[in-house]
Order: sequence, then structure tokens, then C-alpha cells
Amino acid sequence: MQIYTSSLLNLYEELNARKTLCPKDAQKLSQLRKGHIGESQWLSLLNKSSITEAKLLNGLVLIVNDQTLQMDTLLIRPDALYLYEVKNYKGVYLNGTDTITSINGNEYVNPLLQLSRTSIQLRQWLKYNRFSIPVKAFVVYINSDFTLYNANETEPVILPTQINAHLKQLSTHTLPLTDKHDRLFQMLCSAHQTEAAFQRKLPTYTFEELKKCVSCLECHSLSICLTERKYYCQTCHSVGPIAKLVIKQVEDFRLLFPRSRITTAVIYDWCNGRIPKKRIWTVLKTNFIKMGSGKGTYYE
Ligand SMILES: [Zn+2]
Repeated sequence: MQIYTSSLLNLYEELNARKTLCPKDAQKLSQLRKGHIGESQWLSLLNKSSITEAKLLNGLVLIVNDQTLQMDTLLIRPDALYLYEVKNYKGVYLNGTDTITSINGNEYVNPLLQLSRTSIQLRQWLKYNRFSIPVKAFVVYINSDFTLYNANETEPVILPTQINAHLKQLSTHTLPLTDKHDRLFQMLCSAHQTEAAFQRKLPTYTFEELKKCVSCLECHSLSICLTERKYYCQTCHSVGPIAKLVIKQVEDFRLLFPRSRITTAVIYDWCNGRIPKKRIWTVLKTNFIKMGSGKGTYYE
């Protein structure tokens, strides 16, 4: 199993911790969080199911013909590659061809359109990489408080009440996975990209305007207590070694400022001087690749 956490969600969470988001960005963060909850629920159901012969990839991002292909869940099974687009919508909706409409009249693009685009891109990727395996794609409505009127049973949609039956069906397959499937899994893992790098409409921000501090690995809170070797989060009560916390601050900086060079001095500022320079230097030296020398040293 390989789980990629959404770098876009991380980016918005870090920005939210370090500045006041405008209403549009705050709404985007709320959407990303809701999507993340839905995906986590789907993952948990897959993990709890009795499906044995399968390799799971979550949050995989590929580049196909210069376009980003983002997939919620991909399950490599002996018979096919199962692609799931997970939706965490709540309430009553009416199914249409291009849209689904909520009971209070709000129209949303029908997730089947997105699914169709994603599965075409995935087939293109497989063809380009000379891999032959059928693709079976589904939209999963994960929220048990979701109802879809006028649902068409021939459409590849899994409604909340159909989830158990779908998982059971997957569990009954008996063919084993082979080396071919292992190879596909490795190929997909090594082709993974960070999706934030490919988003065109990222929020705007500068280094100066963001609050400098250390942020929690688990909950992005800035209420962190530090001892010589450990950190403690006052919000979610997580504890861990300082080195792990420093690596996270470096990753956050790299995510938010992909074009800036990572140096001991920059990370020291980014952490608002809360972690000694010597410790930052040690972490950089041990966990990142040193480039240049002397005063021009930076890390990648
Ligand atoms: Zn925390």
C-alpha cells in the first residue's frame, strides 16, 4: 500500500496556520479537507475488507501529455486496475447527464465526467508505458447521508448502500497477483508527482507575510513546545524527536517556496529562531543532498 498525502491540502493547511486566508482560499481549504475525510473513510473500508490480492495507491498524481492526472484511489487487482473517484457529498441530489443538482438547486459537475477524463488519461499512461491491463473506474459516494435520485444503474457509480456489496465482490476474486502487477506498482510509485507544483491557481503569498514558527506534523498547529531533543504539540498532544520536526519544516518550506534555496539560515528564520542553527545544519546534512560549498552551500 502506498499513500500519498495531498501536497495541495498540506500547502493550504500551512498557509492557514501562518496567515489569514481570504474567503475563497478558506473555502478551498474546507473543500480539500472534506475530500480528504471522504478518501480516508474509503481507505479505511478497503483496509477493513477481506480483499487479499491487491495493491493500493492513494493520492497518486501522474503527468500525462503535459496534464496532471490525479487519482483518489487506485487498486491493482489480478483482473484489472480499479480506479475510484471518491465524493463526500452529503444530502439529497438529483442525477443528470452533465450535472448533479442538490435539493436546494445548486448544480455541480457530474463526477462521472471527471471520472471519464481520468480513466482516459490513465489508459493513455498505460499505453505509453506499454502496459496492458483493463481499467475499471467508479465514482464512490462515501457519505452515508447521501441520496441520489434518478440514479442510472448502468452508470459506474457506487452509492453508500452499495459499498459493502462492491467490497464483497472484490473479495471473492481468487487469482493471485504476479510479477507483472508488482512491476506496475513500482512504475506508478516512481512516476508520482507533487500535485501542488502543477496547480495554476495557487493562492498568492510572500515569505515576509507568513508567520515564522515551527508547525506540528500532525495538525499544523503552531503551539509547539520544544525541549532539547523532543517536541510536544499543545493542540493535538503529539510528541516526537526534534529531527523529525525539523525535516517537516524543511518540507513545508520547500512546498511553499519551491524556487527558493534551502540553507541553514533560511530554515532558522523559517522556524523563527526556535531551533538552534547547529541542529538544523545537522538535520540538513543528514537528510538532504548538499549542493555547492562554503557560503554558497544549500540543500535539495
Ligand atoms: Zn499537533
